Amino acid sequence: MNKTALTLAVAAALTLVGCNSINTVSESTLKPVTQVTQNQAFSAFSDQFIEDLWRQYPEFSQYAGYGKYDDIITIPNATMRASNVQFSKNKLAELYNFDINSLSGNQKTDYYLIENNLKKAIWSTEKFKGWQWNPSTYNVSYGFANILNSRFKSEADKFKTVLERLKYVPDYYAAAQQNIDTPTIEYTQLAIAQNEGAFAVLKDDLLDQVDASDVLTAQEKALFKKRFADAKTAINGYISFLTKLEKELAENGTARSFRIGEELYEEKFAFDIQSGYTAKKMYEKALADKARVTKEMITLTDQLWPKYFPDTTRPTDDIHAISKLIKHLSQNHVAKENFVAEIKRQIPLLEKFVMEKDLITLDPEKPLVVRETPEYMRGFAMASISSPGPYDSKENTYYNVEPLELRSEAQASSILREYNHWILQILNIHEAVPGHYTQLVYANKSPSLVKSVLRNGAMIEGWAVYTERMMLEEGYGDHEPEMWLMYYKWNLRVICNTLLDYGIQVNGISREQGLDLLMNGAFQERAEAEGKWRRATLSQVQLTSYYSGYREIYDLREKQKEQLGENFDLKAFHETFLSYGSAPVKYINQLMND
Ligand code: ZN
Repeated sequence: MNKTALTLAVAAALTLVGCNSINTVSESTLKPVTQVTQNQAFSAFSDQFIEDLWRQYPEFSQYAGYGKYDDIITIPNATMRASNVQFSKNKLAELYNFDINSLSGNQKTDYYLIENNLKKAIWSTEKFKGWQWNPSTYNVSYGFANILNSRFKSEADKFKTVLERLKYVPDYYAAAQQNIDTPTIEYTQLAIAQNEGAFAVLKDDLLDQVDASDVLTAQEKALFKKRFADAKTAINGYISFLTKLEKELAENGTARSFRIGEELYEEKFAFDIQSGYTAKKMYEKALADKARVTKEMITLTDQLWPKYFPDTTRPTDDIHAISKLIKHLSQNHVAKENFVAEIKRQIPLLEKFVMEKDLITLDPEKPLVVRETPEYMRGFAMASISSPGPYDSKENTYYNVEPLELRSEAQASSILREYNHWILQILNIHEAVPGHYTQLVYANKSPSLVKSVLRNGAMIEGWAVYTERMMLEEGYGDHEPEMWLMYYKWNLRVICNTLLDYGIQVNGISREQGLDLLMNGAFQERAEAEGKWRRATLSQVQLTSYYSGYREIYDLREKQKEQLGENFDLKAFHETFLSYGSAPVKYINQLMND
Protein backbone atom coordinates (compact mmCIF):
# COMPACT_ATOMS: atom_id res chain seq x y z
CA MET A 1 0.00 0.00 0.00
CA ASN A 2 2.86 2.36 0.79
CA LYS A 3 4.29 1.90 -2.62
CA THR A 4 0.94 2.69 -4.25
CA ALA A 5 0.54 5.85 -2.21
CA LEU A 6 4.02 6.93 -3.23
CA THR A 7 3.33 6.28 -6.90
CA LEU A 8 0.23 8.41 -6.69
CA ALA A 9 2.05 11.27 -5.04
CA VAL A 10 4.75 11.18 -7.70
CA ALA A 11 2.12 10.92 -10.39
CA ALA A 12 0.28 13.97 -9.11
CA ALA A 13 3.53 15.92 -8.94
CA LEU A 14 4.44 14.98 -12.49
CA THR A 15 1.09 16.09 -13.84
CA LEU A 16 1.51 19.47 -12.20
CA VAL A 17 5.05 19.88 -13.45
CA GLY A 18 3.88 18.92 -16.91
CA CYS A 19 1.22 21.62 -17.00
CA ASN A 20 3.33 24.41 -15.55
CA SER A 21 6.60 23.90 -17.26
CA ILE A 22 5.60 23.67 -20.91
CA ASN A 23 5.05 27.40 -21.30
CA THR A 24 8.38 28.34 -19.83
CA VAL A 25 10.76 26.08 -21.75
CA SER A 26 12.68 27.49 -24.68
CA GLU A 27 11.60 26.87 -28.25
CA SER A 28 14.48 24.56 -29.13
CA THR A 29 13.78 22.06 -26.34
CA LEU A 30 10.01 22.33 -26.50
CA LYS A 31 9.35 19.19 -28.44
CA PRO A 32 11.37 16.64 -26.49
CA VAL A 33 10.35 18.04 -23.13
CA THR A 34 6.69 18.02 -24.14
CA GLN A 35 7.12 14.48 -25.27
CA VAL A 36 8.72 13.39 -22.03
CA THR A 37 6.19 15.16 -19.85
CA GLN A 38 3.35 13.81 -21.98
CA ASN A 39 4.70 10.30 -21.49
CA GLN A 40 5.08 10.80 -17.76
CA ALA A 41 1.71 12.43 -17.48
CA PHE A 42 0.10 9.59 -19.39
CA SER A 43 1.69 6.98 -17.21
CA ALA A 44 0.46 8.87 -14.14
CA PHE A 45 -2.99 9.06 -15.71
CA SER A 46 -3.00 5.30 -16.42
CA ASP A 47 -2.05 4.43 -12.84
CA GLN A 48 -4.72 6.74 -11.49
CA PHE A 49 -7.24 5.36 -13.96
CA ILE A 50 -6.78 1.82 -12.64
CA GLU A 51 -7.03 3.01 -9.02
CA ASP A 52 -10.24 4.87 -9.82
CA LEU A 53 -11.58 1.94 -11.83
CA TRP A 54 -11.25 -0.28 -8.76
CA ARG A 55 -13.05 2.24 -6.60
CA GLN A 56 -15.86 2.47 -9.15
CA TYR A 57 -16.05 -1.31 -9.70
CA PRO A 58 -15.13 -3.05 -6.42
CA GLU A 59 -16.19 -6.49 -7.71
CA PHE A 60 -13.85 -6.18 -10.68
CA SER A 61 -11.02 -5.17 -8.33
CA GLN A 62 -11.64 -8.32 -6.30
CA TYR A 63 -11.09 -10.58 -9.33
CA ALA A 64 -7.87 -8.75 -10.12
CA GLY A 65 -6.64 -9.51 -6.60
CA TYR A 66 -6.46 -5.84 -5.60
CA GLY A 67 -7.88 -6.53 -2.15
CA LYS A 68 -8.83 -3.08 -0.92
CA TYR A 69 -12.56 -3.25 -1.67
CA ASP A 70 -13.29 -6.91 -0.96
CA ASP A 71 -15.82 -6.00 1.73
CA ILE A 72 -18.13 -4.10 -0.65
CA ILE A 73 -20.95 -5.26 -2.91
CA THR A 74 -22.31 -2.56 -5.20
CA ILE A 75 -26.08 -2.28 -5.46
CA PRO A 76 -27.00 -2.52 -9.16
CA ASN A 77 -29.63 0.24 -9.19
CA ALA A 78 -30.25 3.23 -11.48
CA THR A 79 -28.06 5.49 -9.33
CA MET A 80 -25.15 3.10 -9.72
CA ARG A 81 -25.63 2.88 -13.49
CA ALA A 82 -25.73 6.66 -13.81
CA SER A 83 -22.60 6.89 -11.70
CA ASN A 84 -20.83 4.34 -13.92
CA VAL A 85 -21.74 6.23 -17.08
CA GLN A 86 -20.58 9.51 -15.56
CA PHE A 87 -17.32 7.88 -14.51
CA SER A 88 -16.71 6.73 -18.08
CA LYS A 89 -17.52 10.13 -19.54
CA ASN A 90 -15.21 11.92 -17.10
CA LYS A 91 -12.35 9.54 -17.75
CA LEU A 92 -12.83 9.78 -21.52
CA ALA A 93 -12.61 13.57 -21.26
CA GLU A 94 -9.35 13.22 -19.31
CA LEU A 95 -8.01 10.71 -21.82
CA TYR A 96 -8.74 13.00 -24.75
CA ASN A 97 -6.47 15.64 -23.23
CA PHE A 98 -3.54 13.54 -24.43
CA ASP A 99 -2.16 13.81 -27.93
CA ILE A 100 -1.92 10.17 -28.91
CA ASN A 101 0.89 10.87 -31.38
CA SER A 102 3.17 11.99 -28.57
CA LEU A 103 2.85 8.68 -26.72
CA SER A 104 5.15 5.66 -26.91
CA GLY A 105 3.99 2.48 -28.69
CA ASN A 106 3.26 0.77 -25.40
CA GLN A 107 1.26 3.79 -24.24
CA LYS A 108 -0.67 4.09 -27.48
CA THR A 109 -2.05 0.60 -27.04
CA ASP A 110 -2.86 1.41 -23.40
CA TYR A 111 -4.68 4.52 -24.62
CA TYR A 112 -6.83 2.47 -27.01
CA LEU A 113 -7.57 -0.16 -24.36
CA ILE A 114 -8.71 2.47 -21.87
CA GLU A 115 -10.83 4.23 -24.50
CA ASN A 116 -12.44 0.95 -25.54
CA ASN A 117 -13.15 -0.04 -21.94
CA LEU A 118 -14.87 3.26 -21.17
CA LYS A 119 -16.90 3.39 -24.36
CA LYS A 120 -17.96 -0.20 -23.90
CA ALA A 121 -19.14 0.51 -20.36
CA ILE A 122 -21.40 3.31 -21.63
CA TRP A 123 -22.67 1.18 -24.52
CA SER A 124 -23.38 -1.80 -22.24
CA THR A 125 -25.45 0.32 -19.89
CA GLU A 126 -27.28 2.48 -22.40
CA LYS A 127 -27.64 0.28 -25.45
CA PHE A 128 -26.91 -3.40 -24.86
CA LYS A 129 -28.71 -3.40 -21.52
CA GLY A 130 -27.84 -6.93 -20.44
CA TRP A 131 -28.62 -5.69 -16.92
CA GLN A 132 -32.28 -5.77 -17.98
CA TRP A 133 -32.59 -9.05 -19.84
CA ASN A 134 -29.85 -11.24 -18.40
CA PRO A 135 -30.86 -12.25 -14.86
CA SER A 136 -27.66 -14.29 -14.46
CA THR A 137 -25.78 -10.99 -14.23
CA TYR A 138 -26.88 -11.05 -10.61
CA ASN A 139 -25.20 -13.53 -8.35
CA VAL A 140 -23.30 -12.91 -5.14
CA SER A 141 -21.66 -16.35 -4.96
CA TYR A 142 -18.50 -15.58 -6.92
CA GLY A 143 -17.43 -12.82 -4.58
CA PHE A 144 -18.00 -14.88 -1.46
CA ALA A 145 -16.33 -17.96 -2.97
CA ASN A 146 -13.36 -15.88 -4.00
CA ILE A 147 -12.81 -14.70 -0.44
CA LEU A 148 -13.44 -18.05 1.22
CA ASN A 149 -11.10 -19.89 -1.21
CA SER A 150 -8.36 -17.31 -1.01
CA ARG A 151 -4.94 -18.69 -0.20
CA PHE A 152 -3.73 -15.30 0.97
CA LYS A 153 -6.35 -14.39 3.58
CA SER A 154 -6.36 -15.45 7.24
CA GLU A 155 -9.47 -16.98 8.75
CA ALA A 156 -10.15 -13.77 10.67
CA ASP A 157 -9.84 -11.73 7.52
CA LYS A 158 -12.16 -14.08 5.62
CA PHE A 159 -14.91 -14.11 8.23
CA LYS A 160 -14.80 -10.36 8.81
CA THR A 161 -14.93 -9.62 5.10
CA VAL A 162 -17.82 -12.03 4.58
CA LEU A 163 -19.66 -10.46 7.52
CA GLU A 164 -19.30 -7.03 5.91
CA ARG A 165 -20.39 -8.19 2.46
CA LEU A 166 -23.43 -10.06 3.75
CA LYS A 167 -25.14 -6.84 4.78
CA TYR A 168 -25.53 -5.75 1.14
CA VAL A 169 -27.20 -8.92 -0.14
CA PRO A 170 -30.89 -8.04 0.48
CA ASP A 171 -30.59 -4.63 -1.25
CA TYR A 172 -28.57 -6.20 -4.02
CA TYR A 173 -31.30 -8.68 -4.96
CA ALA A 174 -34.07 -6.11 -4.50
CA ALA A 175 -32.36 -3.93 -7.11
CA ALA A 176 -31.75 -6.94 -9.37
CA GLN A 177 -35.43 -7.85 -9.32
CA GLN A 178 -36.35 -4.25 -10.11
CA ASN A 179 -34.05 -4.29 -13.15
CA ILE A 180 -35.36 -7.42 -14.85
CA ASP A 181 -37.55 -6.72 -17.85
CA THR A 182 -38.39 -9.33 -20.52
CA PRO A 183 -35.34 -11.57 -20.12
CA THR A 184 -34.41 -14.52 -22.32
CA ILE A 185 -35.62 -17.91 -21.11
CA GLU A 186 -32.07 -19.28 -21.35
CA TYR A 187 -30.55 -16.63 -19.09
CA THR A 188 -33.48 -16.92 -16.68
CA GLN A 189 -32.87 -20.65 -16.31
CA LEU A 190 -29.15 -20.11 -15.94
CA ALA A 191 -29.73 -17.49 -13.25
CA ILE A 192 -31.96 -19.87 -11.29
CA ALA A 193 -29.38 -22.69 -11.44
CA GLN A 194 -26.41 -20.46 -10.64
CA ASN A 195 -28.11 -18.69 -7.78
CA GLU A 196 -29.07 -22.06 -6.33
CA GLY A 197 -25.33 -22.72 -6.50
CA ALA A 198 -24.89 -19.87 -4.03
CA PHE A 199 -25.97 -22.22 -1.28
CA ALA A 200 -22.89 -24.35 -1.92
CA VAL A 201 -20.87 -21.29 -0.91
CA LEU A 202 -23.13 -19.82 1.76
CA LYS A 203 -23.74 -23.19 3.36
CA ASP A 204 -24.53 -24.02 6.95
CA ASP A 205 -21.04 -25.47 7.33
CA LEU A 206 -19.81 -21.92 7.15
CA LEU A 207 -21.98 -20.93 10.11
CA ASP A 208 -20.56 -23.86 12.07
CA GLN A 209 -17.02 -22.82 11.19
CA VAL A 210 -17.69 -19.26 12.28
CA ASP A 211 -19.25 -20.52 15.49
CA ALA A 212 -16.31 -22.80 16.25
CA SER A 213 -13.64 -20.20 15.57
CA ASP A 214 -12.54 -17.53 17.99
CA VAL A 215 -11.76 -14.77 15.49
CA LEU A 216 -15.18 -13.10 15.86
CA THR A 217 -16.66 -11.78 19.08
CA ALA A 218 -19.95 -13.20 20.37
CA GLN A 219 -21.70 -10.06 19.12
CA GLU A 220 -20.16 -10.41 15.67
CA LYS A 221 -21.15 -14.05 15.56
CA ALA A 222 -24.77 -13.14 16.29
CA LEU A 223 -24.69 -10.48 13.60
CA PHE A 224 -23.13 -12.97 11.18
CA LYS A 225 -25.97 -15.41 11.85
CA LYS A 226 -28.64 -12.77 11.27
CA ARG A 227 -27.09 -11.41 8.07
CA PHE A 228 -26.47 -14.92 6.81
CA ALA A 229 -30.17 -15.79 7.25
CA ASP A 230 -31.27 -12.52 5.59
CA ALA A 231 -28.93 -13.16 2.67
CA LYS A 232 -30.34 -16.63 2.15
CA THR A 233 -33.87 -15.25 2.24
CA ALA A 234 -32.93 -12.67 -0.39
CA ILE A 235 -31.37 -15.27 -2.70
CA ASN A 236 -34.38 -17.55 -2.30
CA GLY A 237 -36.64 -14.60 -3.04
CA TYR A 238 -34.80 -13.91 -6.29
CA ILE A 239 -35.00 -17.58 -7.27
CA SER A 240 -38.78 -17.69 -6.65
CA PHE A 241 -39.25 -14.47 -8.59
CA LEU A 242 -37.35 -15.92 -11.55
CA THR A 243 -39.08 -19.29 -11.37
CA LYS A 244 -42.46 -17.60 -11.58
CA LEU A 245 -41.25 -15.31 -14.35
CA GLU A 246 -39.86 -18.20 -16.36
CA LYS A 247 -43.22 -19.93 -16.26
CA GLU A 248 -45.04 -16.78 -17.42
CA LEU A 249 -42.56 -16.16 -20.21
CA ALA A 250 -42.91 -19.72 -21.44
CA GLU A 251 -46.69 -19.72 -21.25
CA ASN A 252 -47.20 -16.35 -22.87
CA GLY A 253 -44.33 -16.67 -25.37
CA THR A 254 -43.15 -13.21 -24.33
CA ALA A 255 -39.50 -13.97 -23.60
CA ARG A 256 -36.80 -12.05 -25.37
CA SER A 257 -34.97 -14.02 -28.07
CA PHE A 258 -31.45 -15.11 -27.17
CA ARG A 259 -30.35 -13.91 -30.63
CA ILE A 260 -29.10 -10.34 -30.39
CA GLY A 261 -29.26 -9.55 -34.14
CA GLU A 262 -26.78 -7.97 -36.53
CA GLU A 263 -26.50 -4.43 -35.18
CA LEU A 264 -25.80 -5.35 -31.56
CA TYR A 265 -23.57 -8.21 -32.66
CA GLU A 266 -21.38 -5.95 -34.81
CA GLU A 267 -21.12 -3.45 -31.98
CA LYS A 268 -20.30 -6.06 -29.37
CA PHE A 269 -17.77 -7.64 -31.70
CA ALA A 270 -16.07 -4.27 -32.19
CA PHE A 271 -15.78 -3.75 -28.41
CA ASP A 272 -14.88 -7.28 -27.37
CA ILE A 273 -12.51 -8.30 -30.15
CA GLN A 274 -11.30 -4.83 -31.23
CA SER A 275 -10.65 -6.36 -34.60
CA GLY A 276 -9.55 -4.74 -37.81
CA TYR A 277 -12.37 -6.64 -39.54
CA THR A 278 -16.12 -6.43 -39.12
CA ALA A 279 -17.91 -9.44 -37.66
CA LYS A 280 -19.43 -10.11 -41.06
CA LYS A 281 -16.03 -10.12 -42.74
CA MET A 282 -14.69 -12.45 -40.05
CA TYR A 283 -17.62 -14.79 -40.61
CA GLU A 284 -16.88 -14.89 -44.33
CA LYS A 285 -13.24 -15.67 -43.62
CA ALA A 286 -14.31 -18.51 -41.34
CA LEU A 287 -16.56 -19.90 -44.07
CA ALA A 288 -13.66 -19.88 -46.52
CA ASP A 289 -11.33 -21.47 -43.95
CA LYS A 290 -13.81 -24.23 -43.26
CA ALA A 291 -13.97 -25.09 -46.96
CA ARG A 292 -10.16 -25.01 -47.27
CA VAL A 293 -9.55 -27.14 -44.18
CA THR A 294 -12.19 -29.70 -45.16
CA LYS A 295 -10.57 -30.05 -48.58
CA GLU A 296 -7.17 -30.65 -46.98
CA MET A 297 -8.70 -33.27 -44.71
CA ILE A 298 -10.13 -35.12 -47.69
CA THR A 299 -6.72 -35.22 -49.35
CA LEU A 300 -5.09 -36.50 -46.15
CA THR A 301 -7.78 -39.14 -45.72
CA ASP A 302 -7.21 -40.39 -49.25
CA GLN A 303 -3.52 -40.63 -48.46
CA LEU A 304 -3.90 -42.37 -45.07
CA TRP A 305 -6.82 -44.68 -45.77
CA PRO A 306 -4.86 -47.63 -47.25
CA LYS A 307 -2.37 -47.49 -44.37
CA TYR A 308 -5.03 -47.96 -41.67
CA PHE A 309 -7.76 -49.79 -43.56
CA PRO A 310 -5.93 -51.88 -46.20
CA ASP A 311 -8.84 -54.28 -46.54
CA THR A 312 -11.75 -51.88 -46.42
CA THR A 313 -12.94 -49.70 -49.27
CA ARG A 314 -13.02 -46.02 -48.41
CA PRO A 315 -16.60 -44.81 -48.03
CA THR A 316 -17.61 -42.57 -50.93
CA ASP A 317 -19.00 -40.00 -48.54
CA ASP A 318 -16.00 -37.83 -47.62
CA ILE A 319 -17.30 -36.76 -44.21
CA HIS A 320 -18.02 -40.34 -43.29
CA ALA A 321 -14.54 -41.44 -44.36
CA ILE A 322 -12.75 -38.63 -42.45
CA SER A 323 -14.82 -39.35 -39.40
CA LYS A 324 -14.00 -43.05 -39.47
CA LEU A 325 -10.29 -42.41 -39.83
CA ILE A 326 -10.25 -39.86 -36.99
CA LYS A 327 -12.06 -42.30 -34.69
CA HIS A 328 -9.52 -44.97 -35.52
CA LEU A 329 -6.50 -42.72 -34.96
CA SER A 330 -7.94 -41.39 -31.69
CA GLN A 331 -7.36 -44.77 -30.07
CA ASN A 332 -3.68 -43.92 -30.03
CA HIS A 333 -3.26 -42.19 -26.68
CA VAL A 334 -1.33 -42.37 -23.41
CA ALA A 335 -2.49 -44.45 -20.46
CA LYS A 336 -4.72 -42.65 -17.98
CA GLU A 337 -2.10 -42.65 -15.22
CA ASN A 338 0.55 -41.17 -17.52
CA PHE A 339 -1.45 -38.18 -18.71
CA VAL A 340 0.13 -35.50 -16.52
CA ALA A 341 3.60 -37.06 -16.76
CA GLU A 342 3.41 -37.08 -20.55
CA ILE A 343 2.59 -33.37 -20.60
CA LYS A 344 5.59 -32.70 -18.33
CA ARG A 345 7.79 -34.74 -20.63
CA GLN A 346 6.74 -32.87 -23.75
CA ILE A 347 7.40 -29.28 -22.62
CA PRO A 348 11.24 -29.47 -22.86
CA LEU A 349 10.90 -31.17 -26.26
CA LEU A 350 8.80 -28.29 -27.55
CA GLU A 351 11.33 -25.82 -26.18
CA LYS A 352 14.12 -27.70 -27.93
CA PHE A 353 12.28 -27.60 -31.24
CA VAL A 354 11.55 -23.87 -30.94
CA MET A 355 15.21 -23.14 -30.19
CA GLU A 356 16.61 -25.39 -32.91
CA LYS A 357 14.33 -23.86 -35.52
CA ASP A 358 15.05 -20.40 -34.14
CA LEU A 359 11.36 -19.48 -33.99
CA ILE A 360 11.46 -17.19 -30.98
CA THR A 361 13.81 -16.55 -28.05
CA LEU A 362 12.69 -18.37 -24.90
CA ASP A 363 13.48 -17.02 -21.47
CA PRO A 364 14.95 -19.90 -19.44
CA GLU A 365 14.76 -17.89 -16.21
CA LYS A 366 11.04 -18.29 -15.72
CA PRO A 367 10.11 -21.95 -15.74
CA LEU A 368 6.57 -23.15 -16.22
CA VAL A 369 5.25 -25.34 -13.43
CA VAL A 370 3.10 -28.24 -14.63
CA ARG A 371 0.71 -29.34 -11.89
CA GLU A 372 -2.59 -31.10 -11.31
CA THR A 373 -5.39 -28.56 -11.33
CA PRO A 374 -6.12 -27.52 -7.72
CA GLU A 375 -9.47 -28.85 -6.52
CA TYR A 376 -11.25 -25.50 -6.29
CA MET A 377 -10.52 -24.86 -9.98
CA ARG A 378 -11.55 -28.24 -11.38
CA GLY A 379 -14.40 -28.96 -13.73
CA PHE A 380 -14.00 -26.20 -16.32
CA ALA A 381 -11.20 -27.16 -18.67
CA MET A 382 -8.89 -30.13 -19.15
CA ALA A 383 -5.94 -27.78 -19.24
CA SER A 384 -5.36 -24.14 -18.48
CA ILE A 385 -2.65 -21.65 -17.65
CA SER A 386 -2.69 -19.70 -14.37
CA SER A 387 -0.64 -16.61 -14.69
CA PRO A 388 0.21 -14.28 -11.82
CA GLY A 389 -2.20 -11.36 -11.61
CA PRO A 390 -1.04 -7.73 -11.57
CA TYR A 391 -0.84 -7.75 -7.77
CA ASP A 392 0.94 -11.07 -7.24
CA SER A 393 3.67 -10.98 -9.87
CA LYS A 394 6.02 -13.12 -7.77
CA GLU A 395 3.66 -16.09 -8.05
CA ASN A 396 4.59 -18.92 -10.44
CA THR A 397 2.99 -19.53 -13.80
CA TYR A 398 1.17 -22.85 -13.68
CA TYR A 399 0.07 -25.24 -16.36
CA ASN A 400 -2.97 -26.88 -14.75
CA VAL A 401 -3.93 -30.34 -15.94
CA GLU A 402 -6.99 -32.16 -14.63
CA PRO A 403 -5.97 -35.54 -13.22
CA LEU A 404 -7.87 -38.38 -14.90
CA GLU A 405 -7.63 -40.83 -12.01
CA LEU A 406 -10.73 -39.33 -10.41
CA ARG A 407 -12.89 -39.83 -13.49
CA SER A 408 -14.94 -42.86 -14.33
CA GLU A 409 -13.41 -45.32 -16.79
CA ALA A 410 -15.79 -44.21 -19.56
CA GLN A 411 -15.19 -40.49 -18.99
CA ALA A 412 -11.44 -40.93 -18.83
CA SER A 413 -11.25 -42.92 -22.03
CA SER A 414 -13.42 -40.40 -23.87
CA ILE A 415 -11.08 -37.60 -22.73
CA LEU A 416 -8.03 -39.64 -23.72
CA ARG A 417 -9.44 -40.23 -27.21
CA GLU A 418 -10.08 -36.52 -27.52
CA TYR A 419 -6.57 -35.63 -26.27
CA ASN A 420 -4.95 -38.43 -28.22
CA HIS A 421 -1.29 -38.82 -29.21
CA TRP A 422 -1.46 -35.93 -31.69
CA ILE A 423 -3.94 -33.55 -30.11
CA LEU A 424 -2.09 -33.70 -26.79
CA GLN A 425 0.97 -32.26 -28.53
CA ILE A 426 -1.11 -29.52 -30.13
CA LEU A 427 -2.65 -28.77 -26.74
CA ASN A 428 0.85 -28.35 -25.27
CA ILE A 429 1.85 -26.03 -28.08
CA HIS A 430 -1.30 -23.99 -27.41
CA GLU A 431 -1.09 -23.82 -23.63
CA ALA A 432 2.64 -23.75 -23.14
CA VAL A 433 5.37 -23.45 -25.76
CA PRO A 434 5.30 -21.31 -27.83
CA GLY A 435 1.62 -20.56 -27.05
CA HIS A 436 0.14 -18.96 -23.93
CA TYR A 437 3.11 -19.39 -21.64
CA THR A 438 5.61 -17.92 -24.08
CA GLN A 439 3.28 -15.02 -24.89
CA LEU A 440 2.92 -14.33 -21.20
CA VAL A 441 6.66 -14.15 -20.65
CA TYR A 442 6.89 -11.56 -23.43
CA ALA A 443 3.89 -9.61 -22.14
CA ASN A 444 5.60 -9.33 -18.76
CA LYS A 445 8.60 -7.72 -20.42
CA SER A 446 6.58 -4.67 -21.39
CA PRO A 447 4.87 -4.20 -18.06
CA SER A 448 1.66 -2.26 -18.22
CA LEU A 449 -0.92 -2.39 -15.49
CA VAL A 450 -3.53 -1.31 -18.04
CA LYS A 451 -2.72 -4.28 -20.27
CA SER A 452 -2.67 -6.77 -17.46
CA VAL A 453 -6.10 -5.58 -16.39
CA LEU A 454 -7.75 -4.82 -19.76
CA ARG A 455 -5.82 -7.33 -21.87
CA ASN A 456 -7.25 -8.36 -25.20
CA GLY A 457 -8.52 -11.94 -25.07
CA ALA A 458 -8.67 -12.35 -28.85
CA MET A 459 -4.97 -11.54 -29.17
CA ILE A 460 -4.04 -13.93 -26.35
CA GLU A 461 -6.12 -16.85 -27.66
CA GLY A 462 -5.32 -15.93 -31.25
CA TRP A 463 -1.60 -16.20 -30.56
CA ALA A 464 -1.97 -19.66 -29.00
CA VAL A 465 -4.03 -20.86 -31.98
CA TYR A 466 -1.60 -19.26 -34.43
CA THR A 467 1.36 -21.11 -32.90
CA GLU A 468 -0.33 -24.49 -33.46
CA ARG A 469 -0.29 -24.00 -37.21
CA MET A 470 3.05 -22.21 -37.27
CA MET A 471 4.79 -25.09 -35.45
CA LEU A 472 3.42 -27.64 -37.90
CA GLU A 473 4.38 -25.46 -40.86
CA GLU A 474 7.91 -25.33 -39.47
CA GLY A 475 8.06 -29.11 -39.36
CA TYR A 476 7.00 -30.02 -35.86
CA GLY A 477 5.77 -33.63 -36.05
CA ASP A 478 7.84 -34.20 -39.19
CA HIS A 479 5.01 -33.19 -41.53
CA GLU A 480 3.30 -36.42 -40.55
CA PRO A 481 -0.11 -36.57 -42.30
CA GLU A 482 -1.77 -37.92 -39.12
CA MET A 483 -0.59 -34.86 -37.22
CA TRP A 484 -1.99 -32.52 -39.86
CA LEU A 485 -5.30 -34.37 -39.99
CA MET A 486 -5.71 -34.10 -36.23
CA TYR A 487 -4.59 -30.49 -36.27
CA TYR A 488 -7.26 -29.70 -38.85
CA LYS A 489 -9.91 -31.35 -36.75
CA TRP A 490 -8.78 -29.24 -33.78
CA ASN A 491 -8.67 -26.11 -35.92
CA LEU A 492 -12.15 -26.78 -37.33
CA ARG A 493 -13.52 -26.48 -33.82
CA VAL A 494 -12.23 -22.93 -33.60
CA ILE A 495 -13.50 -22.07 -37.09
CA CYS A 496 -16.93 -23.59 -36.45
CA ASN A 497 -17.30 -21.76 -33.13
CA THR A 498 -17.22 -18.55 -35.15
CA LEU A 499 -19.67 -19.90 -37.72
CA LEU A 500 -21.99 -21.12 -34.99
CA ASP A 501 -21.93 -17.89 -33.02
CA TYR A 502 -22.56 -15.63 -36.00
CA GLY A 503 -25.00 -18.16 -37.43
CA ILE A 504 -27.08 -18.17 -34.26
CA GLN A 505 -26.89 -14.52 -33.27
CA VAL A 506 -27.15 -12.91 -36.70
CA ASN A 507 -28.33 -15.44 -39.27
CA GLY A 508 -30.86 -17.10 -36.98
CA ILE A 509 -29.92 -20.73 -37.72
CA SER A 510 -31.95 -23.44 -36.01
CA ARG A 511 -30.72 -25.86 -33.37
CA GLU A 512 -30.71 -28.66 -35.96
CA GLN A 513 -28.57 -26.59 -38.32
CA GLY A 514 -26.21 -25.74 -35.47
CA LEU A 515 -25.77 -29.36 -34.39
CA ASP A 516 -25.32 -30.43 -38.01
CA LEU A 517 -22.55 -27.86 -38.44
CA LEU A 518 -20.66 -29.18 -35.41
CA MET A 519 -21.26 -32.89 -35.86
CA ASN A 520 -20.98 -33.23 -39.62
CA GLY A 521 -18.92 -30.14 -40.30
CA ALA A 522 -16.45 -30.38 -37.42
CA PHE A 523 -16.54 -34.10 -36.48
CA GLN A 524 -17.78 -33.50 -32.94
CA GLU A 525 -19.66 -35.93 -30.75
CA ARG A 526 -23.32 -35.15 -30.06
CA ALA A 527 -22.73 -34.36 -26.37
CA GLU A 528 -20.02 -31.86 -27.24
CA ALA A 529 -22.16 -30.27 -29.95
CA GLU A 530 -25.16 -29.94 -27.65
CA GLY A 531 -23.03 -28.36 -24.95
CA LYS A 532 -21.67 -25.88 -27.48
CA TRP A 533 -25.15 -24.98 -28.69
CA ARG A 534 -26.20 -24.22 -25.14
CA ARG A 535 -23.11 -22.11 -24.55
CA ALA A 536 -23.81 -20.21 -27.77
CA THR A 537 -27.28 -19.27 -26.54
CA LEU A 538 -25.71 -17.89 -23.36
CA SER A 539 -22.94 -15.77 -24.82
CA GLN A 540 -22.32 -13.58 -27.81
CA VAL A 541 -19.01 -12.93 -29.61
CA GLN A 542 -16.95 -14.78 -26.98
CA LEU A 543 -16.92 -17.95 -29.10
CA THR A 544 -15.38 -16.04 -32.01
CA SER A 545 -12.40 -14.69 -30.10
CA TYR A 546 -10.03 -17.62 -30.77
CA TYR A 547 -10.59 -17.63 -34.48
CA SER A 548 -10.66 -13.84 -34.85
CA GLY A 549 -7.34 -13.37 -33.11
CA TYR A 550 -5.74 -16.23 -35.03
CA ARG A 551 -7.01 -15.04 -38.42
CA GLU A 552 -5.76 -11.50 -37.87
CA ILE A 553 -2.31 -12.59 -36.69
CA TYR A 554 -1.93 -14.98 -39.60
CA ASP A 555 -3.07 -12.33 -42.09
CA LEU A 556 -0.67 -9.81 -40.58
CA ARG A 557 2.21 -12.26 -40.92
CA GLU A 558 1.38 -13.04 -44.52
CA LYS A 559 1.17 -9.33 -45.34
CA GLN A 560 4.58 -8.75 -43.75
CA LYS A 561 6.04 -11.64 -45.71
CA GLU A 562 4.76 -10.12 -48.90
CA GLN A 563 6.06 -6.65 -48.07
CA LEU A 564 9.49 -7.74 -46.84
CA GLY A 565 10.08 -10.53 -49.32
CA GLU A 566 13.47 -12.10 -48.69
CA ASN A 567 14.03 -9.85 -45.70
CA PHE A 568 11.16 -11.39 -43.80
CA ASP A 569 12.38 -13.10 -40.65
CA LEU A 570 9.94 -15.29 -38.75
CA LYS A 571 11.70 -14.97 -35.41
CA ALA A 572 11.87 -11.19 -35.68
CA PHE A 573 8.20 -11.10 -36.63
CA HIS A 574 7.24 -13.14 -33.56
CA GLU A 575 9.36 -11.14 -31.17
CA THR A 576 8.23 -7.77 -32.49
CA PHE A 577 4.62 -8.85 -32.49
CA LEU A 578 4.77 -10.01 -28.87
CA SER A 579 6.73 -7.00 -27.68
CA TYR A 580 3.57 -4.87 -27.61
CA GLY A 581 2.00 -7.00 -24.89
CA SER A 582 -1.57 -8.30 -24.85
CA ALA A 583 -2.97 -5.56 -27.08
CA PRO A 584 -5.55 -5.96 -29.87
CA VAL A 585 -3.97 -7.26 -33.10
CA LYS A 586 -5.44 -4.29 -34.98
CA TYR A 587 -3.23 -1.85 -33.05
CA ILE A 588 -0.15 -4.06 -33.08
CA ASN A 589 -0.62 -4.19 -36.84
CA GLN A 590 -0.67 -0.37 -37.02
CA LEU A 591 2.42 -0.05 -34.84
CA MET A 592 4.33 -2.67 -36.80
CA ASN A 593 3.54 -0.86 -40.02
CA ASP A 594 4.41 2.62 -38.70
ZN1 ZN B 1 -6.09 -20.84 -24.96
